[in-house]
Amino acid sequence: MSVFSAKSFRNHEQVLFHQDPASGLVAIIAIHDTTLGPALGGCRFWAYEDEDAALDDVLRLSRGMTYKAALANLSFGGGKAVIMAPRDGTKSPALFRAFGQFVNSLGGRYITAEDVGTSPADMEIVHAVTPYVAGVADGGAGDGDPSPATAWGVFHGLRAAVAAKLGRSDLHDVHVAVQGLGHVGGHLAQHLADRGALLTVADLDEGRLAWAKRDLGAQVVDVNAIYDVAADVFAPNAMGAVLNDDTIPRLNVKAVAGSANNQLAEDRHGADLAARGILYAPDYVINAGGIINISHEGRLYNREKAMAHCARIHDTLVEIFQRAEQEGRPTNEIADQLAEERIASHAATARNSLRAAVG
Ligand code: NAD
Repeated sequence: MSVFSAKSFRNHEQVLFHQDPASGLVAIIAIHDTTLGPALGGCRFWAYEDEDAALDDVLRLSRGMTYKAALANLSFGGGKAVIMAPRDGTKSPALFRAFGQFVNSLGGRYITAEDVGTSPADMEIVHAVTPYVAGVADGGAGDGDPSPATAWGVFHGLRAAVAAKLGRSDLHDVHVAVQGLGHVGGHLAQHLADRGALLTVADLDEGRLAWAKRDLGAQVVDVNAIYDVAADVFAPNAMGAVLNDDTIPRLNVKAVAGSANNQLAEDRHGADLAARGILYAPDYVINAGGIINISHEGRLYNREKAMAHCARIHDTLVEIFQRAEQEGRPTNEIADQLAEERIASHAATARNSLRAAVG
């Protein structure tokens, strides 16, 4: 396995490999950039095909966290952890305790959290070993499920997309095709319905579909048909890579705005969307509500303030949409550039303060 020449390696500050034979833990922590603060990012537990696949995932995801935190104006850097699931796929308390010790050994340079394959209960075990865990019940308010905050941010991001493409400040009769009615998609669909939006929805879960039909007046389509729905907005809230060579030509919408991570199968698909006149709200910008909420956690948690911060995702997207329009470039490229500019500007300010301090 090569690290510095791995395809997703982008000037990561540190990549740490750890194994604990007693518990079966095999894990990697990638710290991409700590210019803005300690690296924050979830811990993924996954049955990777091999070590290269695990390395690629942790490198890619940690970099995404740097950009996400920068564009949400948070004092966090980007990091991520992956645990390679043991052959039998079982998770044990000993494994998460060993992971907690790994996290603790970094002295706070990396703060972990729940992610795909890990649960709040797993993170409680990690938290018993290290304080460097976000999103757990530690006596402060505001902890727990990040999905309502994520959905609130997506809702405001979607409003920005509708304003940019339809010139509308309200959502009455705006038609949204919602893919996935889970923790985030469900809250989002409710916010949209509350504002009079028309919904067409798809999910694998019959119970969620029945709820949307009954309580939100949504139309239901097959999971494979959601890409073909003629609507104003497509809101992906299920899995990644849904914007690809097969789906983009089928989309009959003016904008894409949803919570799913890694929506573009490849970066070039951002340009494909732009070429078709479809406005794309970059995923890591619009779905940052959960991490924004985490940044407010603690004894002084104020839900109103946290939700107002999530709502400012609207303004960040307006800036991205305007720059993309002015420069004739895809929104995903503009978002990356804006994040890099914010990090560079912070680093320059820190350098100048240091120079001033040492005379
Ligand atoms: P979830 O598992 O609660 O919900 C996903 C929903 O999608 C489920 O209802 C599932 O049945 C449905 N689904 C699965 N495959 C589908 C398909 N092919 N077509 C239609 N529906 C399908 O997950 P979640 O927490 O709501 O997260 C949704 C997405 O948002 C994920 O990509 C997640 O990584 C991302 N995200 C979530 C958060 C958060 O706070 N939960 C934060 C940032 C990003």
